Amino acid sequence: MSKPLIVITGASSGIGAAIARHFSAAGHPLLLLARRLEQIEALQLPNSLCRQVDVCDPTAFSQAIEEAEQAYGPVDGLINNAGCMLLGQLDEQSPAEWQQMFDVNVMGVLNGIRAVLPAMKARRGGTIINVSSIAGRKTFPNHAAYCGTKFAVHAMGENLREEVADSDVRVVTIAPGAVETELLSHTSSEQIINDYQAWKQSMGGAIAADDVAAATLFAYSQPQNVCIRELVIAPTRQQ
Ligand code: NDP
Repeated sequence: MSKPLIVITGASSGIGAAIARHFSAAGHPLLLLARRLEQIEALQLPNSLCRQVDVCDPTAFSQAIEEAEQAYGPVDGLINNAGCMLLGQLDEQSPAEWQQMFDVNVMGVLNGIRAVLPAMKARRGGTIINVSSIAGRKTFPNHAAYCGTKFAVHAMGENLREEVADSDVRVVTIAPGAVETELLSHTSSEQIINDYQAWKQSMGGAIAADDVAAATLFAYSQPQNVCIRELVIAPTRQQ
């Protein structure tokens, strides 16, 4: 039997690209979204539609989903993975950086949910997976605004899970610890980047994006009546 459609945001690098490869290998058709279209196309995954969508644009998000559903049938899984982390001390950081993180990490997740939820509720099935962070459960130095966005992702997911449980729609929060990706490179302070790298080294390095992707596929692959509400995955030595 053919597998259902999965939508993955932020599929152009890191965890999102790894999730795309794992779900493709499991036989799913995919809608891959990111701003860097050439990077999602370069994955060259079979049965995949690649669209340049900024998750902050709800219209473009919904249009891409409509287009993919015409090709592959209803969305069964939405993986809200797109995110940005701009570390900084609150008295030094620009409000533009706070805004960008809240727009992408919080509004982007809500935009995705809004684009798929009515149809999932109507057909009584589907899975929404939000990639949050351990920084959505505890705080870290220079993470205040980022933690604010990720605590929000945890809270929104848990609230939504309660709201849609009766409709048999699952809501899963994935909370990775340190993962080796491009994420840190967008922080402007060299000092903060160096401190973060030293912290990673002190625990023997970060885990791989593939590790998070395998855990995400595991959570999705449970029977529809089994919901892994939260999955925390981190380097063994991370505190
Ligand atoms: P990357 O920087 O490698 O990937 C981030 C992805 O998000 C890119 O594909 C990027 O695509 C996309 N993205 C950013 N802004 C937008 C936007 N406005 N619209 C659409 N897509 C966007 O980092 P990771 O793979 O590490 O991050 C993936 C998720 O994992 C994030 O939510 C992050 O917070 C979370 N996470 C990461 C951890 C880590 O240690 N790496 C730890 C815990 C959580 P493009 O630029 O092409 O638009």
